[in-house]
Amino acid sequence: MNLPVKFIEKYQQLLGEEATAFLTSLQSGKVQKGFRLNPLKPNFKQVRTDLSRPLNYVATGYLGAITGRSLEHQTGYLYSQEPSAMYVAEAAAVQPGECILDLCAAPGGKSTQLAGKLQGQGLLVANEIDAKRARVLAENLERTGATNVQILNEQPAKLIKKFKGFFDKVLVDAPCSGEGMFRKDPAAITYWSVDYPRECANRQREILKSAWQLLKPGGQLIYSTCTFAPEEDEQIAAWLLAEYPTLKLLPLKKYSGMDNGRPEFADGRAELTRAVRLFPHHFQGEGHFIAKFQDTQPQPGRRLKRAKKRSNQIFRALSPNEQGYWREFCQLQFGRQLFKSVDLRVLNDKLYYVNHNWPELTGLRVVRPGLELGVFKKKRFEPAYGFALSLNPAFCQRVIELSLDQWNQYVQGQPLQLSSNKQPNGWYLLTCQQKAFSFGKVANQVLKNYFPKGLRLRYGQR
Ligand code: SAM
Repeated sequence: MNLPVKFIEKYQQLLGEEATAFLTSLQSGKVQKGFRLNPLKPNFKQVRTDLSRPLNYVATGYLGAITGRSLEHQTGYLYSQEPSAMYVAEAAAVQPGECILDLCAAPGGKSTQLAGKLQGQGLLVANEIDAKRARVLAENLERTGATNVQILNEQPAKLIKKFKGFFDKVLVDAPCSGEGMFRKDPAAITYWSVDYPRECANRQREILKSAWQLLKPGGQLIYSTCTFAPEEDEQIAAWLLAEYPTLKLLPLKKYSGMDNGRPEFADGRAELTRAVRLFPHHFQGEGHFIAKFQDTQPQPGRRLKRAKKRSNQIFRALSPNEQGYWREFCQLQFGRQLFKSVDLRVLNDKLYYVNHNWPELTGLRVVRPGLELGVFKKKRFEPAYGFALSLNPAFCQRVIELSLDQWNQYVQGQPLQLSSNKQPNGWYLLTCQQKAFSFGKVANQVLKNYFPKGLRLRYGQR
């Protein structure tokens, strides 16, 4: 890999004797791969993957490569993520019940991990400014089976009108100069110039100004990048401390191989050592910077209660017929009704679980207002892929377990002929190795294919 001369000179000057080890590790081209298990899934450790190299700083993280075409990835049991990126959500120390904003969320590495930490309690708002990337974010979050996520496609400043002072924690995993991507994605080198870190820093300041307004007084702001550039990292952390005097940098635990932030890279404030630098010549990862801030203003009461009074105007109510179709589906599949009716909302004929305590989203670009349960068509209800991925088969009555070969055929879009045991016609949760992966509809012993067209694999993989 050819690093720009100016880049080499810059880090020789910044790192002195250490520069050789740093530059050699970047030029080695040896990419550290990792993956996480998803604690939201039933029996989440039952995966056919090598778990012999666990990471000590992320409970669900491992070293090793996984394929995006495996059953485990397709069912949301595994998520591929380079190891240093995993420490960001870990450092956020999210507790179930909190309201979290991931402001720059696509493709979803941190959001999927944050959703796991919430354990279905509280709310994760995952926002992505780029519409195409927001769709990928939605796919990745859908696979996790998380039920308490809203996905938005907005400019950060646009969120302020709805969410001012709302979130317990705001994560800004900022668009950055991406120097930590050089080994993984050498194309990132072509974007680099001497001025690029400063341009990125300017953009980050704008994003962080919005993040600050979205944060609840007394909340925590987490800023991270995948670059080594001091103009971003320490200098942005120092800028935040100067700009918002009620913010304090919190010390982050440094595991073996993790470096302190470097005060000399910014204005010399000693507290910058509390941030974390992950350098590829010290740490088995591609590189990250993480700083966590505590706002020291008194905490007001929880904002969810205030949001409760608002009406959810973007939705329409279920018609009596639609209520009937949904009830019938629940009775057959679960033997009981799922969700309170006050939490069921319809948007563009799609039925969602949207907790009535969540804030309303009028005027925002909404990708998913909550968990998509299905769609109402003429005189029927079709359950959604995302709903299937959120279910524990142990609590479902109509389940068809398929072999790996059958799963392969199904995810390629093929219908299946069912041979044994006459199944009554209707909707079934489909599983393979007890992992839910779709709904399918049985009609006269044929399992019709309802796997989303955009997600179909052209050829399967075991
Ligand atoms: N957190 C993500 C993850 O873990 O998968 C990675 C986020 S990536 C480093 C930064 C994201 O910020 C990109 O998806 C990019 O589209 C988005 N972005 C770019 N410009 C932005 C802006 N002005 N405001 C907010 N987000 C922006």
